[in-house]
Amino acid sequence: MNFPKKNADHEIKALCKESPNLLVALEGQDEYKKSMGRLFCENDSNKPKAFFRPKTTDDVCRVLRYASANQLQVSVLGGGHDPKGLAIIHDALVLDMSAMNHIDIDPQTATAWVEAGVNVKDLDDVTCPQGLAAVNGSCTTVGVVGFTLGGGFGFLSRTKGLAVDNCLQMEIVTATGQRIVASSQGHRHLFWVLRGAGQVGYGVVTKLQVKLHTLQEQYVGGRFWYVPMSSTKLKELLHVMSEFCRSAEDEITFNIYLITQVPGVAVDYFYDGHPSEAEGKLLPFLRSITERFGPPGESSTAVNGPWEEQTTSYVEYQQRFGEEPVKTYKMWKSAFLGELTPEVIHIIISQLEEAPVSSNPHTIGLELLGGEINRKSPDSCAYVHRDALYLFSAQAVWTPEDEAKGNAHACRQWAEETARSLLPHSLGSYQNYADCGENTRAQRLENYFGKANIQRLKELKEEYDPLGIFTREHFRL
Ligand SMILES: Cc1cc2nc3c(=O)[nH]c(=O)nc-3n(C[C@H](O)[C@H](O)[C@H](O)COP(=O)(O)OP(=O)(O)OC[C@H]3O[C@@H](n4cnc5c(N)ncnc54)[C@H](O)[C@@H]3O)c2cc1C
Repeated sequence: MNFPKKNADHEIKALCKESPNLLVALEGQDEYKKSMGRLFCENDSNKPKAFFRPKTTDDVCRVLRYASANQLQVSVLGGGHDPKGLAIIHDALVLDMSAMNHIDIDPQTATAWVEAGVNVKDLDDVTCPQGLAAVNGSCTTVGVVGFTLGGGFGFLSRTKGLAVDNCLQMEIVTATGQRIVASSQGHRHLFWVLRGAGQVGYGVVTKLQVKLHTLQEQYVGGRFWYVPMSSTKLKELLHVMSEFCRSAEDEITFNIYLITQVPGVAVDYFYDGHPSEAEGKLLPFLRSITERFGPPGESSTAVNGPWEEQTTSYVEYQQRFGEEPVKTYKMWKSAFLGELTPEVIHIIISQLEEAPVSSNPHTIGLELLGGEINRKSPDSCAYVHRDALYLFSAQAVWTPEDEAKGNAHACRQWAEETARSLLPHSLGSYQNYADCGENTRAQRLENYFGKANIQRLKELKEEYDPLGIFTREHFRL
């Protein structure tokens, strides 16, 4: 649907009079800049008509009734971390959910209701002191609802599944302003689609209920660095890690980040089991790495001390990097991969060598999946990627100085080419990250959601958002 470009200021002001709790911010106002500033990717070109900051589900209902009646496009800003920047749409009304940040834990049932403005850190800060944790992301400022709508994996996922596998119910407001609770008991089809394809735009999720898991006091976890490391050695390291990960225990998770320009590598490791078990199952491997590649860089640490010996609490591990770095321009691309075959490793290392110089190095991420994630049936919900062992991502970064020097194009192109060169090996792309540079929209959507599911996604879209007020071009079915 093409939305009429009309000046809605007058009606917006009238709407706010009806809802005194609802903060509205128009272009030029400080609160507008504040909401714009919550995007992880710099995005100067998308200027929404207005930001609304609801405090209650009723506020959300009112905005959506108004938007539908006036055929205005709506987008939703959660934690702002979508690498595609789809939370803010040009000329749309944007619901900035940051003021809905309540968490309600029930320790008896080990569950929590989490509102749409809550981020990873907020949730860990409330659950972990009670000895409980949700399956959560590994970046503190990612929004919990946005994370869950696309799948959601973290350091607990290889033993406990994805966020979608641990989500019990969602409260959602549909395009016409109707409040619905979707679960396996009611609105089952909507619940199915929200868990994996929620970002296609079926409504605004105002809160969701998650399962919580009992935490141990201490875990083995840290990061080791080899910077610089030659590409020959990096290739060898990937072969060694790939061999180990092929049959690694579910408790073991690695996130491997190859860094361009220097080049080098940072590897996060975490053992989701008793530290005494890690002594037999993970640490011998880490020691074998040291023997083969030499002592890792000085900044390699477990959270509290020598890099492979100390233990950490879960929350300390989750929050070990503190505040997020300064904002830059970014482009991510992604692909799910099976084994890291010699051919895949060759492509990755070649692309690492080809990376253009910019003020910041770019990154190639390889995050280990599998385990419990892959034991769920691919039709249990709209997240279909149950056969992948790794999530690959190419993350290009550049600054305003690079823009001024004309380097930005090369950075973007590098991310695109890196992903495209892996397309023949790709098992799909992660809707929470980005596409893989497919040639057509149909291929892109099939890679996100699986060919067999597209028709079902369309039918549900027609049912819950017939006017397409939540539709964004990237996910248009
Ligand atoms: C640095 C970084 C680290 C990351 N780490 C991980 C990780 O460890 N694991 C992982 O699985 N993913 C990770 N991600 C990806 C992240 O989970 C997704 O980008 C997620 O969609 C971000 O949600 P958000 O609310 O922060 O972002 P937003 O940009 O605000 O929202 C993302 C999308 O969801 C929609 N949305 C958000 N809230 C709602 C709502 N309440 N109702 C309806 N639609 C909504 C938005 O419109 C947008 O399309 C990471 C991303 C970054 C940038």
